[in-house]
Amino acid sequence: QDRSIDAADLAALSGRTVAVIGFGNQGAAQAANLRDSGHAPVVGNRDDAYAEAAAEEGFDLRSITEASAAGDVVLLLVPDEVQPDLVRDEIAPGLRAGDVLVVASGYNWHFGLLDVPDGVDVVMVAPRMIGAAVRDRYVDRHGFPCFVSVERDATGRAWDTTLAVARAIGGTLGGAIVSSAREETALDLFSEQAVWPAILDVVRTAHRVAIEAGFSEEAVLNELYLSAEPAEVFAHVARDGLFGQLGLHSRTSQYGQLRALTGLDERGELASRFARVMHDDILSGAFAREWSRPEAGERLDALHREVAASPIAAAEAEVRARLGA
Ligand code: NDP
Repeated sequence: QDRSIDAADLAALSGRTVAVIGFGNQGAAQAANLRDSGHAPVVGNRDDAYAEAAAEEGFDLRSITEASAAGDVVLLLVPDEVQPDLVRDEIAPGLRAGDVLVVASGYNWHFGLLDVPDGVDVVMVAPRMIGAAVRDRYVDRHGFPCFVSVERDATGRAWDTTLAVARAIGGTLGGAIVSSAREETALDLFSEQAVWPAILDVVRTAHRVAIEAGFSEEAVLNELYLSAEPAEVFAHVARDGLFGQLGLHSRTSQYGQLRALTGLDERGELASRFARVMHDDILSGAFAREWSRPEAGERLDALHREVAASPIAAAEAEVRARLGA
């Protein structure tokens, strides 16, 4: 079957009712894009401020149960942590053989936490973009990267539906990427559990070492991140390349950076730690089991309290107050 993006047309949606469950970050953006693509969805949301927003914007607003029953193609756009219970209690009862459940993140499906009736297709259309930008980049036709996959093809036409949904929300404008729930989940968790903790640790350690060397809190914190210079550098990494952006720095800086980088061991301790996170924590399912336990939320709160009491957090609060930053 031709999975190329050129093959993505909207025909697979014609005559089918699309339901958007959850009118939050992704839900509001994707519903608006679907409507502008000619497939105005019914919207299912609890009766509160988000529901009011959907009604004010002129969407056909229903309860989650009613919208799920009305939808032939149902987009699951509520937070990952509430999906297993919501699917079991309010969404699955409305799904019939031939319907399609569309997830925007692979986590729950990959770890077996979604109970979807037999005969229902399960597909993934996962924008790599925050909701507000999903809308803005549809409107200005810039598009955004989007991972797509078919997880269960009960009807034999799940790819057509996947690509039609991706196209209708603007996910093929920048080229959709054929992936899988497993890949999307593993890479997402890997960024969160390997890459970002390492970056946070680099900043925290650099702060400690520079303060111990006798430099001032405001100078150190501005050098490290309060100036927002790292954000500028990362924007250029995306635009000009990981090493292509080096040309924007002074030659002294370039020499210092490259000389230090070649001294680092690409296959050393960091690589072993990253591999452990990928295999032992993520792919084994150990992290997902831990995060599903009822006490995990309390541990998250405790971890937040722990970092809030760390020296760099206290210094940051003090410098911000002093500089009005
Ligand atoms: P939000 O937190 O913005 O979703 C909020 C929506 O979910 C609201 O409509 C809210 O309704 C509803 N909701 C929350 N709790 C419940 C509940 N217990 N029962 C019923 N409805 C509830 O989610 P996102 O848009 O951020 O995420 C949706 C999906 O998109 C997730 O799978 C996420 O992984 C994925 N995704 C998110 C991205 C992002 O940038 N945010 C990027 C790519 C994918 P209420 O009005 O009742 O609160």
